Amino acid sequence: MQSNSNLQPTPDNDGFFGTYGGRYVPEPLIAVLDEISRAYQTYKNDDAFKRELADLYKHYVGRPSPIFHARRLTGHCGGAQIFLKREDLNHTGAHKINHCLGEALLAKRMGKKKIIAETGAGQHGVALATAAALVGLECDIYMGEVDIEKEHPNVVRMGILGARVVPVAAGQRTLKEAVDAALMAYVQDPITQFYGIGSVVGPHPFPMMVRDFQQVVGEEAREQFLDMTGRLPDNLIACVGGGSNAIGLFTAFLDDENVAMFGVEPAGLSFKVGEHAATLTMGTPGVIHGFRCHLLQDEDGEPLPVYSCASGLDYPGVGPQHSFLKEIGRVTYETINDKEAIDAFFALSRIEGIIPALESSHAVAFAMKVAALLESDKTILVNLSGRGDKDIDHVVRVYGHLYGVE
Ligand SMILES: *Cc1c(COP(=O)(O)O)cnc(C)c1O
Repeated sequence: MQSNSNLQPTPDNDGFFGTYGGRYVPEPLIAVLDEISRAYQTYKNDDAFKRELADLYKHYVGRPSPIFHARRLTGHCGGAQIFLKREDLNHTGAHKINHCLGEALLAKRMGKKKIIAETGAGQHGVALATAAALVGLECDIYMGEVDIEKEHPNVVRMGILGARVVPVAAGQRTLKEAVDAALMAYVQDPITQFYGIGSVVGPHPFPMMVRDFQQVVGEEAREQFLDMTGRLPDNLIACVGGGSNAIGLFTAFLDDENVAMFGVEPAGLSFKVGEHAATLTMGTPGVIHGFRCHLLQDEDGEPLPVYSCASGLDYPGVGPQHSFLKEIGRVTYETINDKEAIDAFFALSRIEGIIPALESSHAVAFAMKVAALLESDKTILVNLSGRGDKDIDHVVRVYGHLYGVE
């Protein structure tokens, strides 16, 4: 097993995790990113900032989120004990509020007027609009037209929260194009605006900063799990879009060599181009949105079209630290397809009374597979990254007839 410094790179000063990450951006953006880096380094160690964030986690988000021993699901699978870290119970319904509050507080401290970002499933947009309302910042959210149609309730929520939703009509009209559009808007005015990125992606310092704000998930989980069982979990499982909920859970356990970790990517409809978003599984190193990572790309290095039933997972790149963790073999990356995810969505709903987000359903599906292969004295902790309310209309329209719901 490698030493701490190999497993948990800060990253290095240039923002690299091994050969992944960094800053592949036009020259004028370097100064802007340096400003964010400096401000982040300052406030990260500032007692008042840390206290304010901890206070919001507790009294606004509702942290710590509980861990639930899913006994009936465990019985259904017949094997390892399945536990769920209930990020779905957070205010706004997912883990994203953890980093959005951090970003909004930082933007406010930096004297910015407006926070802007992209959103896929709309979860990041809602979380950021929420954080912006709370701290008193304007908020523009860029969203692909396909996602706007698919995730209508979240679009309405953002409007109610006072954010402006900017439709993106380019290309596939989903997450990748939304990031392109938001970055473009940001470059035009990085002085009064702050980019509140939605995952552990983008140029340095974003992957590090978002990871640090999400780290609370794993820190809580480690302590809670020890309290509940007297041991650490044998396995951690989380879905991977950009990778923020996964890295948030994994970080506190990276040095625990007996804790196995699995990131679950969407295999969509098939492994044909355009029918999945299994970046680490099928991709090769390349550059997207200002950083180096595994990438689903064509011969010219252009990102390929991607798809998943879970809008929050359909991104052709992935957080650079995940590329690094794959390369050194610390985390294993697996895939779950749409059908398996939908089965898990209904299984958790009907066996435990918990409707999971379609993204989280990928992690649940993989946990159900793994549990069945293990003895009953083994444990699996799943990061239940979000709740499924946003997905119910889509799920019932497309798959309801298969499960007796019309
Ligand atoms: C956005 C989202 C994800 C995917 O993002 P990561 O950065 O990979 O965590 C997963 N689950 C839910 C509920 C989401 O909203």
